[in-house]
Amino acid sequence: MTGAQPKTTHARELYIAGKWTPQSGTGSIDVLSASTEEVIGSVPEGTAADVDCAVRAARAAFDGHWGQTDVGERVEWLRKLADALKQRAEQIAVTISQEVGSPIQMSTNIQAGLPVLVTNSYAQLITELKLEQEIGNSLVVREPFGVVGAITPWNYPLHQIMAKVAPALAAGCTVVLKPSEVAPLNALLLAEACDAIGLPAGVLNIVTGYGPAVGEAIASHPMVDMVSFTGSVRAGKRVAALAAETIKKVTLELGGKSAFVVLDDAPLEKAIPAGARNAMLNSGQTCSAWTRMIVPRSLYQKALELAAQAIGSLKVGDPLDPSTRLGPLISATQRERVEGYIAKGKQEGARVVMGGGRPAGFDKGYYVEPTIFADVQSKMTIAQEEIFGPVLSVLPYDTEDDAVRIANDTIYGLAGGVWSGDPDRAMRVARRMRTGQVDVNGGKYNPLAPFGGYKHSGIGRELGMFGLEEYFQIKSIAR
Ligand code: NAD
Repeated sequence: MTGAQPKTTHARELYIAGKWTPQSGTGSIDVLSASTEEVIGSVPEGTAADVDCAVRAARAAFDGHWGQTDVGERVEWLRKLADALKQRAEQIAVTISQEVGSPIQMSTNIQAGLPVLVTNSYAQLITELKLEQEIGNSLVVREPFGVVGAITPWNYPLHQIMAKVAPALAAGCTVVLKPSEVAPLNALLLAEACDAIGLPAGVLNIVTGYGPAVGEAIASHPMVDMVSFTGSVRAGKRVAALAAETIKKVTLELGGKSAFVVLDDAPLEKAIPAGARNAMLNSGQTCSAWTRMIVPRSLYQKALELAAQAIGSLKVGDPLDPSTRLGPLISATQRERVEGYIAKGKQEGARVVMGGGRPAGFDKGYYVEPTIFADVQSKMTIAQEEIFGPVLSVLPYDTEDDAVRIANDTIYGLAGGVWSGDPDRAMRVARRMRTGQVDVNGGKYNPLAPFGGYKHSGIGRELGMFGLEEYFQIKSIAR
């Protein structure tokens, strides 16, 4: 496999104003492989001074040129960028398999594939959005929001970046991006792609570093008009509070504790494995994962057996091995956190029916066994808090109303699923779930559908046309 080593020649430079710019400070952040625990690269530890420099570059690009470009020109840039990412797809996939631990098959299809698809989708959608309309004697126009600060997490790192950068650029905004400090190497590959196509200076600027320094400097900078954040509720609240000081627009894509409701007429042999696999995607490090499986009490034992069978068939292994379906967790910290939740689950009386420890045969890498908890009650910590690991909680219910109540019984509302032999019944339950997206009877992933949360899962939507609309101001001109 080519490109197995991510490029680290920019260990002391940041991509600002269209060029590799020396960092202002001296600190650097090592990036570790999730499976070997070895250092695979390092990036500058950016500072508030670097953010200031990047924001000024983004402001100058927005005011001077990009904010007034016509749609056709931006479409061309997006197509070029998508092509440049596609050319680097293998390197991106391998890099993310190393940084995050995602199995290479999934890295290829999702981690590297989705950013190309999303970037191309915005090249199309921007041509379809109505930028002007007449309302009575007013002309109502959509104008690009301005300078966007984008702060992103590590679990689907380049997808989460392009879900912000592509619509922002399509709308005519310029961007200052802070990628996750835990998986930043893929963002350097994006910078190289921008550099290679000659994207105009200042349109996309990337400052690596830690949240409290770089993230907070972006959220509070007076020249940033909007902040788009994806990450934990804790950091999202902080970003929103800081942004409020200068009345910035804020969109937040936060955590989840999504429910999969299996109705009593569902074909269990199909529904349960689908739900179980969903919970384990990216070793459970997926914000929209169905980590709570809610099943009829009468079918509980059968459901547990089918879930264990489905999860037991997923091969745990080296993320670079094409037959691996479950890789390690991203870091020692994440493994500690997940193991803490497993201990808490046991302590509160839930029963481990599968996994619960570290898999045998891995002396390196942050592996945790895929784990299933039975006898989980909704009030337990493992049914309320986001674990972000390969841990599925199975909860019994007695009536359909009860199932809906349990599904809605957390502070989150990001995703979910329903399965029934009667599609109309499944739809009725889907409508009662207080969550941003629901899959009915295994409905397949739709990258053009809006993605985002109810309740503490966030504010605003990403992807598709709804995601694009977030990046516009609305101006009414009365005549
Ligand atoms: P995190 O909140 O720790 O970090 C996310 C980003 O915010 C990182 O770039 C980090 O450096 C930055 N950050 C941290 N503290 C900050 C602060 N005080 N000010 C500004 N920025 C700060 O989250 P994570 O561990 O990288 O990612 C996991 C979390 O992200 C999970 O809760 C997961 O559910 C959530 N997530 C949500 C979605 C979604 O679309 N809803 C998608 C993926 C992940």
